[in-house]
Amino acid sequence: MVTGMNKQDIEKLIRPEIRALSAYHVPKVGDVIKLDAMENPYRWPEGLVAQWLELLKDVELNRYPDPAAYSLNTRLRQAMNIPADAGVVLGNGSDELIQMILLAIAEGSRSVLSVTPSFVMYKMISTFVGMQYIGVPLREDFSLDMEAMLAAIEAHQPAVVFLAYPNNPSGNLFGADEIIKIIDAAPGLVVVDEAYHAFADSTFMEEVLKYDNLLVMRTLSKMGLAGLRLGLLVGGPSWLQEIDKVRLPYNINVLTQASADFALQNRDVLDEQTQRICKDREMLFQQLSEIESLTVYPSRANFILFRAPSGQANDIFAGLKEKGVLIKNLDAAGGLLKDCLRVTVGKAEENRAFIEVLSDIL
Ligand SMILES: *Cc1c(COP(=O)(O)O)cnc(C)c1O
Repeated sequence: MVTGMNKQDIEKLIRPEIRALSAYHVPKVGDVIKLDAMENPYRWPEGLVAQWLELLKDVELNRYPDPAAYSLNTRLRQAMNIPADAGVVLGNGSDELIQMILLAIAEGSRSVLSVTPSFVMYKMISTFVGMQYIGVPLREDFSLDMEAMLAAIEAHQPAVVFLAYPNNPSGNLFGADEIIKIIDAAPGLVVVDEAYHAFADSTFMEEVLKYDNLLVMRTLSKMGLAGLRLGLLVGGPSWLQEIDKVRLPYNINVLTQASADFALQNRDVLDEQTQRICKDREMLFQQLSEIESLTVYPSRANFILFRAPSGQANDIFAGLKEKGVLIKNLDAAGGLLKDCLRVTVGKAEENRAFIEVLSDIL
């Protein structure tokens, strides 16, 4: 059928708030040292890869996946110390879980609240589902401004509060006591996003059922399995039964189910990589701190945020890129992130190359 729709007709049909967005931009990279996306830089030992490929041979691509991902669920409950009475919903990455939570709750006048700066998907997905988004500025050292948080919760009565623990892009861990105060004050759901749990040593998982408005979200992405796309949402079964209703059937594909299950059976390999990353993070922090012109922020995640001398972030970013080192330039986000850059902890030699090029530029 030819409808003769032109650009104007399309613009009339697409919601204005969607037209105003830009698609989530991920730069295409060639052969660079890639320190921009919080990926684990390590692959598996060869023997393990061989075992994994052997397992994949038997995966039936002609069949739909187990919709409940029963076997993987059992493995995750054990690997993540999930309380026995808690409900679990799996997502195609935690991004999809954020979408499911908001799809289940979105309604005209309802709002979502988080802090600024934080993970950009909270705001983007709020916009997708037509909810108002409130970002409460952090203090200058990226800690929570509790007075402002509690006042904003009181004023806006948000249906959902998202808190990344540790926070991205600042890398710090908010006070657990502060988060509990927010959980107590919030009139709706509070989602504690523990994407960087593996590097942080601090969690609300054990206490998730102690608060009837708390959900804990985790992902395998930052643990070394970003390519698989698997996140999990944990909390009271009455919440998760409802959220599960907006999940598209078969959202976790057969290859992800088999591979994640296998990876978690070999958890020690991932844990060892994580420990190495934590150690290298301390070294990288030390070396960045020795560069006098930079302000470096302590991190409990697998990346480090630092502030360049005023007006220099773009040149530093471009200079690094030209020398084959890709990090993340956050300057354009403005506010507290003006002049800020974020580097993911890579392999020791990658971190070294980054420091060398950076020192040359400065
Ligand atoms: C990376 C990140 C996620 C996204 O994780 P996926 O499971 O890969 O979708 C969620 N929350 C925060 C805070 C992150 O930094």
